[in-house]
Amino acid sequence: MESLRELYRIGYGPSSSHTMGPRAAMERFIGLHPEVEHFQAELYGSLAATGKGHLTDRAIREVCSKAGKELSIKWYPDIFKPFHPNALTIKALDRDGEVTFEKTYYSIGGGKIVTENRNDLTPVDIYPKERFGSMARLLDYCSEEGLQLWEAVLEVEGPELLEYIKEVWETMKSSIESGLNNEGVLPGGLKLQRKAAQVYAKSQEFKGPFGDTKLPIAFALAVSEENAGGGRIVTAPTCGSCGVLPAVLYCLQLQDKLTDTRIYRALLTAGIVGNIVKENGSISGAEVGCQGEVGVACAMAGAAATQLMGGSIYQIEYAAEMGLEHHLGLTCDPMKGLVQIPCIERNAMAAMRALDHSIFALFSDGRHKVSFDAVIEVMMETGQALPSLYRETSMGGLALIK
Ligand code: SF4
Repeated sequence: MESLRELYRIGYGPSSSHTMGPRAAMERFIGLHPEVEHFQAELYGSLAATGKGHLTDRAIREVCSKAGKELSIKWYPDIFKPFHPNALTIKALDRDGEVTFEKTYYSIGGGKIVTENRNDLTPVDIYPKERFGSMARLLDYCSEEGLQLWEAVLEVEGPELLEYIKEVWETMKSSIESGLNNEGVLPGGLKLQRKAAQVYAKSQEFKGPFGDTKLPIAFALAVSEENAGGGRIVTAPTCGSCGVLPAVLYCLQLQDKLTDTRIYRALLTAGIVGNIVKENGSISGAEVGCQGEVGVACAMAGAAATQLMGGSIYQIEYAAEMGLEHHLGLTCDPMKGLVQIPCIERNAMAAMRALDHSIFALFSDGRHKVSFDAVIEVMMETGQALPSLYRETSMGGLALIK
């Protein structure tokens, strides 16, 4: 399992798999062949099916134009490479248009790219499997050593990780602030109005018995709308699901006057929850549908909130388990291939749900029937059983509504 730096990536939306990943692949390939003037990119499967809406072409063109290179793009939405549905072949062309080098990359979610030989691009696995191979092992280890989950993370990554986590938190807060200030229609053709500013204004008047219950909605909308507009966000675990965790954390920080240090620790715990799914399951909408994106974000946020509210490691695991379980089967069928409908509202609802899971887990003693590890397995089975229509191809479901 890789560092949390590979899970929390700071970058530009709207899609970790469709913009961040291809951008990284293009940069890497140009870096390997800096002498080449003309490149060709071939997009396959889900990357081609929703690449226009997700701005894949804009992302790789930007890389080429910054490097002073020419780029032609070919789209193959009906060809799915067996290794992963998000495939990108980049070719270097000589003056006669002949291919001199080529490489196929796979954008497997959360901005991460691999080749078929996964190891050649993969950063080093730093978490030992005997302690971090599953949530069950991690809980056993923490229980034996008397550690919190965040302490076990720091044991491996060292205190220097906190510098990066601080940057993550600052970026999350600035996406909330920008999202609350920006108004107007989002790009892409759906003519969808940003709503965060209005919801935030109304939330100031609406105080229920549990405090300001609309605040997480406003914050999640703010970050998700920033993402949809190509703004700067942190993947948590992906771009499409980037609103859930910051919304929950910022809401709790404001309401309970929590220090940044406690938020950093909550981010470590949320991070290890996301990392376990990334390692043993998937966080790619093209592979398992939205359960792997918003479902995982809800699990991460529920775990973080439970820790912030004083929960035990078992209650934290319970909240994470509910976050994933209650999103099982969730399809990915974004309208026009944009990361807007259903993605933006889905982030807001998942933020509320994460807080509810946390309260529910805190009311329990942490014991429950279905483990987080078991739900990851079920998520993978369910995702593989979903027709590709519902896995980020925009060929079914909501995407067909006129
Ligand atoms: S529906 Fe979910 S998985 Fe699909 S693009 Fe939107 S946020 Fe990502």
